[in-house]
Amino acid sequence: MKVAKFGGSSVANATQLIKVGNIIKSDPNRKFVVVSAPGKRFSDDIKMTDMLIELGTAYMNGATYEENLIAVLNRFSEIIEDLKVDDSVYTEIETDIKSALAVEGSPENKMDAIKAIGENSSAKILSAYLNTLGIEASYVNPKEAGIIVSDEPGNARILPESFDKIYTLREKEGVLVIPGFFGYSKEGKLVTFSRGGSDITGSIIAAGIKAEMYENFTDVDSVYTVNPTIVKNPKEITTLTYKEMRELSYAGFSVFHDEALIPAFREKIPVCIKNTNNPEARGTLIVAEKEASEKCVVGIASDTGFCSLYVSKYLMNREIGFGRKLLNIFEDEGISFEHAPSGIDDMSVIFRDSKFTAEKENTVVNRIKEELHVDTVSIHRDIAVIMVVGEGLVNTIGVAGKATSAFEKANVNIEMINQGSSEVSMMFGIQASDINDAIQSLYTAFFE
Ligand code: ASP
Repeated sequence: MKVAKFGGSSVANATQLIKVGNIIKSDPNRKFVVVSAPGKRFSDDIKMTDMLIELGTAYMNGATYEENLIAVLNRFSEIIEDLKVDDSVYTEIETDIKSALAVEGSPENKMDAIKAIGENSSAKILSAYLNTLGIEASYVNPKEAGIIVSDEPGNARILPESFDKIYTLREKEGVLVIPGFFGYSKEGKLVTFSRGGSDITGSIIAAGIKAEMYENFTDVDSVYTVNPTIVKNPKEITTLTYKEMRELSYAGFSVFHDEALIPAFREKIPVCIKNTNNPEARGTLIVAEKEASEKCVVGIASDTGFCSLYVSKYLMNREIGFGRKLLNIFEDEGISFEHAPSGIDDMSVIFRDSKFTAEKENTVVNRIKEELHVDTVSIHRDIAVIMVVGEGLVNTIGVAGKATSAFEKANVNIEMINQGSSEVSMMFGIQASDINDAIQSLYTAFFE
């Protein structure tokens, strides 16, 4: 039994859903289907989830929301009409939206209920469409499927008791179409995963039913060695380990949600990234272990939007608890850190700068000065993180040298290096404006 998950671009309109239908039809093992909300049909289109967030925001602020509601309904009705699916699906979606708007609870709970409409409607439409193709298919709500999650709106985590219930889905007849992106708390509240979280649902279902394979259908033929918008026609990756994929997707490889690997990884279920627009391409396989190859680096990921805080204090190495106190300030201020390289008298903390307002910066810096009596504290914004990733890194001599000379060739200053904490990656921090030059040069060094 396989789990096939189709991302936003695969369910964006009727043309794409017809391809999805063909893919499901072509392999009877594809019994479990997980879907995203309709994604972008063209580059400046708006994703359904973003449309729903706009609708929810307007509704909750007491602003006029009727236009937003019509836009959402129109997108669904267009798909339903083009697929020639029964009108009753449209009526059901309309009722679902009204119930979501009327949900009781905190604004976050309400917003989650509204956001989930995208995936929920996609699943209803697809199962009705599969029926028109003569495939026995049914829509399964995540509550019925047994997806029980923590009550953290917009950031749910799966609870372990879910998996036994999910296993029993194997007994059901026909193809089961399950909406991605959300589950229910123990108290029965609808809660969504973080953005892009339909991948997580797919992985949870795959782990729960102990699938032979988790296929993740997207709009690229494979995972590439570097971001194809930076390097033209980069090499494809045929096989990756879970650890490698986790590191790559953390730092900008957006083909797969970085949290989605864990459930599949625990059950050792192979994950295959495939293209809905070219299902014959073999895709990229993610497995627990792979044979050693002569290439020690499999990919180079990069992401911007980081901030680094640097502190120095003479004899820091002799001050018991310094690191903990520093990180405590981050904890108190609600900032999670990503890396914390340190030296004898210095320590840097790297974190995402999306929520680090000027006000927050002031508080953090003042607290560090007052509570830790440091010699220097400084903040650098616009940092990009580059991860050179590969299982072979630990046993290969000279990788760091090769990487640093690639930075030198590109005339890029390395602000930070973190090697050794992770066995499969090497992290470099640079100025975000240098990212393209650095990636191009690293690609030449490792792949050409
Ligand atoms: N529709 C959700 C989002 O846009 C989840 C997903 O597509 O995976 O974040």
